[in-house]
Amino acid sequence: MANKRDYYEVLGVQKDAAPDEIKRAYRKLAAANHPDRNKGDEAALERFKEAASAFEVLGDEEKREIYDRYGHEGLERRGGGPQFQNAADIFGAFGDIFGELFGGGGGGGAAAANRPRRGDSLRYPVQLDLKEAFLGCKRSVSFERDEICKTCTGNGAKPGTKPEFCSTCAGLGVVNQTRSGFGFQFQQRAACPACRGAGSIIREKCPDCRGAGRKAEPVTIEVAIPAGVDTGMQVVRQGEGEPGANGGPRGDLHCEIVVKEHPLFKREGTHLTCRVPVTFSQAALGAEFDLPMLVGTELLKIPAGTQPGEVLRKRGLGMPDHRTQRRGDLLVEIQVEVPKKLNEKQEQLIRELASLDQTHVSSHRKSFLEKLKDLFAPITGADEDPKS
Ligand SMILES: [Zn+2]
Ligand SMILES: [Zn+2]
Repeated sequence: MANKRDYYEVLGVQKDAAPDEIKRAYRKLAAANHPDRNKGDEAALERFKEAASAFEVLGDEEKREIYDRYGHEGLERRGGGPQFQNAADIFGAFGDIFGELFGGGGGGGAAAANRPRRGDSLRYPVQLDLKEAFLGCKRSVSFERDEICKTCTGNGAKPGTKPEFCSTCAGLGVVNQTRSGFGFQFQQRAACPACRGAGSIIREKCPDCRGAGRKAEPVTIEVAIPAGVDTGMQVVRQGEGEPGANGGPRGDLHCEIVVKEHPLFKREGTHLTCRVPVTFSQAALGAEFDLPMLVGTELLKIPAGTQPGEVLRKRGLGMPDHRTQRRGDLLVEIQVEVPKKLNEKQEQLIRELASLDQTHVSSHRKSFLEKLKDLFAPITGADEDPKS
């Protein structure tokens, strides 16, 4: 490995420099060699990176101690010294420190206007019917999301112009303000008033995005929904959200699943439940029929003597688990229906059955119905057949 310059020498401080002194020295170098101020100047970028590497070590008590004792070699043995590829890495690592350098306490969120930031994630509801949830499906979702403006490639400046480096805040987006109150003067960190925290100033705005650097555009994205999803689950398409800032990654697209109710089947986790009505004779004697499923039919055998409310379990005929694809069970609850109307023959047979059971039953309904018939017969008869 090539000989590295001494970190104290890089920052221009003494070996016994206090932490504050190191910070001040670094801030000066970072502002002077800032890539926005030195566009295309490779040597300045190198100095910027070198200063960042030095500060990464000397600004950290533990790393500084190792460096003091064993030098660069000591740091490398501990898994390598700092490796900054570009300015964005440095802002990513030191965003908060840039804020701290301005003397304000806490937070640091407003600091480092140039720090790469991840884009916002988007939510999109996706409604499925139970069969689609059972089989899995592909969905095209269409919505509007921000895209980097093609006219200005995202910097917000009119083509042919460039955003200018903000000299008020040295491109950092924050300034230190001196305020007074209660007989004291104190320092407060605030967003730079010249650039409103952006770190750069756009003199002539891009006509397409009006300086925003991004524009809402309609997009259509294909989303693969795995079999077995349920209401409340999310299918995430990574990197399909809003674009990030300063080269940060895009956010994600969260498809929020809503599965519509099915007229026959209900869901309990991976189990499917349904209620099947059968007649008294089917329950008593047993029966077989084809139960319509989400896909195809299934032969359902009802054993003789099945009781009302009894649940028949068919293993492996439920919904697939969205991760393992292992299927739950189908639970069929038997409902025994008591007929509301009987014809003459049916009533006669059931009365015979009742006499075998030796149970007490109410007297013939027919006598009452016949009475009603007798009462209304002349009128209804005349209405039904007016010709005769
Ligand atoms: Zn634009
Ligand atoms: Zn500024």
